[in-house]
Amino acid sequence: HKLPKKVRIEGDTITVNELSRLSGIKAVDLIGKLMELGIMANINQPVDSETAALVLSEFGIEPELVKVDLEKELLKEEPDPPEKLKPRPPVVTVMGHVDHGKTTLLDAIRETRVAEKEAGGITQHIGAYLVEKNGQKICFIDTPGHESFTQMRARGAQVTDIVVLVVAADDGVMPQTVEAINHAKNADVPIVVAINKIDKPEADPEKVKRQLAEYEIIPEEWGGHNLFVQVSAKMRKGIDDLLEAILLQAEMLDLKANPDKPGRGVIIESRLDKGKGPVATVIVKEGTIRVGDYFVAGKHYGRVRSMFDDTGKRIKEAGPSTPVEIVGFPEVPEAGEKFYVMEDEEKAKKLAEIRAEKEKKEVSTGVSLEALLEKLQAGEIKELQVVLKTDVLGTMQALEDSLVKLSTDKVKVRVIHKAVGAITESDVSLAKAAKGIVIGFNVRPTPKAKELAEQNGVDVRLYSVIYDLLDDVKKAMKGLLEPKKREEVIGLAEVRKIFKISRVGTVAGCYVREGKVLRNARARLIRDGVVIYDGEIGSLKRFKDDVREVAAGYECGLTIKDYNDIKEGDQIEVYQIVYEEPEL
Ligand code: GDP
Repeated sequence: HKLPKKVRIEGDTITVNELSRLSGIKAVDLIGKLMELGIMANINQPVDSETAALVLSEFGIEPELVKVDLEKELLKEEPDPPEKLKPRPPVVTVMGHVDHGKTTLLDAIRETRVAEKEAGGITQHIGAYLVEKNGQKICFIDTPGHESFTQMRARGAQVTDIVVLVVAADDGVMPQTVEAINHAKNADVPIVVAINKIDKPEADPEKVKRQLAEYEIIPEEWGGHNLFVQVSAKMRKGIDDLLEAILLQAEMLDLKANPDKPGRGVIIESRLDKGKGPVATVIVKEGTIRVGDYFVAGKHYGRVRSMFDDTGKRIKEAGPSTPVEIVGFPEVPEAGEKFYVMEDEEKAKKLAEIRAEKEKKEVSTGVSLEALLEKLQAGEIKELQVVLKTDVLGTMQALEDSLVKLSTDKVKVRVIHKAVGAITESDVSLAKAAKGIVIGFNVRPTPKAKELAEQNGVDVRLYSVIYDLLDDVKKAMKGLLEPKKREEVIGLAEVRKIFKISRVGTVAGCYVREGKVLRNARARLIRDGVVIYDGEIGSLKRFKDDVREVAAGYECGLTIKDYNDIKEGDQIEVYQIVYEEPEL
């Protein structure tokens, strides 16, 4: 009977029995073939899919390996039925230029909390807090700035629903304001503008509005879609208006989550607590996290031993948009890591193992500029992602511009993060997450960052000359592209006489008809118009002398490397391969 052309093998292993069923090959024949390959297997024994594929191809069947992503499998979940979706509070990040009042604003908002007043003003800093307004909750991430926002996104974890953009009314739109706008836009997160410091006599809120309009942040009164609020964080003015605006924005977003399933969230902060051990603050995204749950975070698994809310109160469970400090990690997890409650310990352990294994592989392949070549060819990356650190702001801006300008249709350069100062661990982890590199200009990595980079194989390149930097990146980008190969025919010779010489082999006495013959050039032997051999010219002589080349109109003696079947009347086409530098 006829065997199929193709057989699909799913997963990492397959039993002989199953393979027989799929391929129509008798199990005994399969076992026999396996034995030939030195593998003793009985009918119920699984063999790995690569071996099975090899066996199939021996029988002339094309194997098709389908890798099952166990990690995905373990994390798979059913879509939520609509009736299970319940409204959830918005999660808010405050961003803006340095000194525009982000910290002061977060303090001012925190002070509006009833719970805190009752507890006598003692608040635990866990990286986020909840406030209540008109019976509705808002979750604020307590680290201002876009550093952590970017870091989370680089890890594919987004917790922020709304960005509050703080702009000082006396200072207006500044570089980091623009950065914040870009981060929020990139992440598709709506912006509520808080024009701050309106208590100052030189405050000019209208100017801020005009400036922001250039970035398509336009107030409703001008026909735009952004909510604007004027506040004085310092004087605690306008805070209620801001909270109301946030709630209004949240309402438009119609934020919902299913609280009735195993909890999933994102780690926003972590630390080693003297008493509690490794702890982390998780913002729950969906489901509910309970004390006693088994979980996985990154490559570690654990069990929730205890949980604390943002007022330091011990709690038993936490639902969507709640920040909660969790005790029970085996090690301090990284911020930005996703947190998954698993059904049982076994599944948690399995997932953690798969991830640890994966990470090991990733580390061994490294993320060096050179390794990017492979990844690009595999279609994994189309962009060179750069984390840029410089000594002064001026160079940072200039370098970013120059780097981005190196982008072409084929390879893009993207500066995913830039800042002034030493290269830190967060820079390295960002580069790692983005499969990119870190470029330092007149700065050095901190010892810890250096260690982390080495551990993770992240390429950290240091420069003090702009030209060198740009040149290296250009080279790397070219390296990402394959050089263009071109063949160039340089000559044609006709074989007129054959000499068989012992120890040398067949020497062809030739007449050079066109171009020239070069020693060590590539050569094709053509007989009756058919290429019968493709090789290289070995020796090349004029009379008795070895020569480098022989021009048209002259006679010469030549050999073809490792080839002796040359006949009178054969043509020898001499050519060379020209490598052209790829065009960017
Ligand atoms: P951040 O760098 O954005 O976190 O800014 P800070 O919250 O540290 O504030 C920077 C400076 O601006 C501090 O000296 C604050 O006291 C001051 N500041 C913040 N908000 C206001 C405000 O509403 N009015 C005035 N006059 N000063 C403010």
